Amino acid sequence: MTGVVVAIDGPAGTGKSSVSKGLARSLGARYLDTGAMYRIVTLAVLRAGVDPADGEAVASVASTVRLSVSYDPDSDRCYLGAEDVSVEIRGDEVTRAVSAVSSVPAVRARLVALQRDMAQGPGSVVVEGRDIGTVVLPDAPVKIFLTASAETRARRRNDQNVASGLPDDYDGVLADVRRRDHLDSTRAVSPLRTAPDAVVVDTSDMTEAQVIAHLLELVRQKSGAVR
Ligand code: C5P
Repeated sequence: MTGVVVAIDGPAGTGKSSVSKGLARSLGARYLDTGAMYRIVTLAVLRAGVDPADGEAVASVASTVRLSVSYDPDSDRCYLGAEDVSVEIRGDEVTRAVSAVSSVPAVRARLVALQRDMAQGPGSVVVEGRDIGTVVLPDAPVKIFLTASAETRARRRNDQNVASGLPDDYDGVLADVRRRDHLDSTRAVSPLRTAPDAVVVDTSDMTEAQVIAHLLELVRQKSGAVR
């Protein structure tokens, strides 16, 4: 089998990460989480004491950051230099600042170049993010854009929050989902949008297993690459 490149984009709360990892496992493919890369740079910015809104200072930190992420869909390991920062990059502080940091053009230029390099190589790869089908890998043979209603995404996130001990606040979470949708789709550099040749999959009324099965079928139709 020759390798296939699968680009998966979409907003938070569509089940994108779980589905991308599941698809990579089923294909025996490498998995690249580009959001983790923006999160590592954001952590470096915060640790340097730089204001995430100061584009020039952010660009300067980003130009020297050494980061690495795992290709293994069963490992969430992420490194800043030699330090394992897998847990810290998922924390509130980084989550709050990552939109500002990822809107700096120099940050995007550096990470997009890195992502293109990392997507190369033998075998198949599933690359997950916001601009993979539009900017990073516009020639990917399989492009998928996952969506779900704002209400569904808010319910999923609120359920996760409650399960991890945070207060039940559906209305607050829904307002935050709408705010981030607006920011992500209106920013000047690489706004979140659907590639014209992407297949849009609405996951609102689908289980994770159903979405993965559907994507496997799409990959098979487009490339014949399912083992
Ligand atoms: O996927 P995740 O929620 O971890 O991504 C964190 C943030 O990184 C997103 O909210 C977005 O601002 C940014 N991002 C991006 N482009 C990507 C991946 C993530 O701008 N390809």
